[in-house]
Amino acid sequence: MWCRGFMQQTVRHVSTFRQAGVLFDVDGVLLRGRSVIPAARRAVRKLLDINNNFLFPVVFVTNAGSCQRHHKAQQLSHLLDVQISPDQVVLSHSPLQMMKSFHNKCVLVSGQGPVTTIANTLGFQKVLSMEQLAQHHPLLDMVEHNRRPTPPSSSLQSLPQIQAIILFGEPIRWETNLQLLIDVLLTNGRPDHAYATELSTQLPVLACNMDLLWMAEAPSPRFGHGMFLLCLESVYKKLTGRELQYEAVLGKPSLLTYQYAEQLLRLQNHNHKLTTIYAVGDNLMTDIYGANRYNRYLAQQHASVVTTTKLVAKGTESQVTMAEDELVSADQCQSILVCTGVYNPRSPLPSDQSGAITEAVFHGQGNLVLEPDLVEPCHVVEDVEAAVDLLLQREGAVTSDLP
Ligand SMILES: [Mg+2]
Repeated sequence: MWCRGFMQQTVRHVSTFRQAGVLFDVDGVLLRGRSVIPAARRAVRKLLDINNNFLFPVVFVTNAGSCQRHHKAQQLSHLLDVQISPDQVVLSHSPLQMMKSFHNKCVLVSGQGPVTTIANTLGFQKVLSMEQLAQHHPLLDMVEHNRRPTPPSSSLQSLPQIQAIILFGEPIRWETNLQLLIDVLLTNGRPDHAYATELSTQLPVLACNMDLLWMAEAPSPRFGHGMFLLCLESVYKKLTGRELQYEAVLGKPSLLTYQYAEQLLRLQNHNHKLTTIYAVGDNLMTDIYGANRYNRYLAQQHASVVTTTKLVAKGTESQVTMAEDELVSADQCQSILVCTGVYNPRSPLPSDQSGAITEAVFHGQGNLVLEPDLVEPCHVVEDVEAAVDLLLQREGAVTSDLP
């Protein structure tokens, strides 16, 4: 009954919305450093209609986070020679916009680039940078001998207590940030105090981008923010004996990032549900793991909605309408692995004797434990052009109806 009503609604709008949406990773899929991967321009052209509009809802999901969405949109528009709007870009920190309970707290931000401005743009009103913290507490940063300060003659105005930490991306001076972040964590946000001997609770830490490695122009992958976090976790554990806890982990492979990206895809689709999301990436541990995990989440969502719908089918019409509204998420998310970035088919990942991928290249955070099934891509193709060919072929019935 509910199903027929839903179909009638979709049929009326079939010429204005699509069944499929596409999520593209950026580094290693479209770009290598500042260079465009040649297949990327061809892939994008194949996805455009005669008016240079995308045939499908498209969102670029990158774990990069040292810039703002409009800058990334401008950069991609320029490099790929197509108009891309900021609403088509998800950076690792973009979902922080939804975490409004932290927006009026005093937050310390770590990373490089305009992180204070980025935090303000995301909605945070009381933002403190690592530079401000170091300037106010000049005795804290003592690792580099040449930069050791002389204590200021006049005392600086005291800072408010830090209530949360946002880790946007890898800093430039790892040693400074490691020292100051530990100071803030072990003093419950008052780094001018001595370390507290007993801390019952840990300051909330929101971390963006867990990538251990990423692919630039160098022949082998480079350290990512995940590598910095690994150092921070290790120092924290060494000093306290406890695991560093994250209040939230953002960026691929987190569910929150995929939920946010799907919201953006749906907006492009006139708020209509998508059937399939294709997620194209070069990193097994972020792009493929994240897409497969989201696919499993979607399946669970639909299973629970179907159960609910069966239960309410005998009920009133208003209950049935509510069940329909919950059906907005896509049916499935298909992962497509490309071989132009971190993943190299000629240099397989470390594996144990049974062939399973070891945790050596996986940065599991909090309750995120490596599940080997989830690093199996649905498809492996040479490059992003082949990925687009594949999805066009699979969505052939839809594309033949396009203007
Ligand atoms: Mg990548």
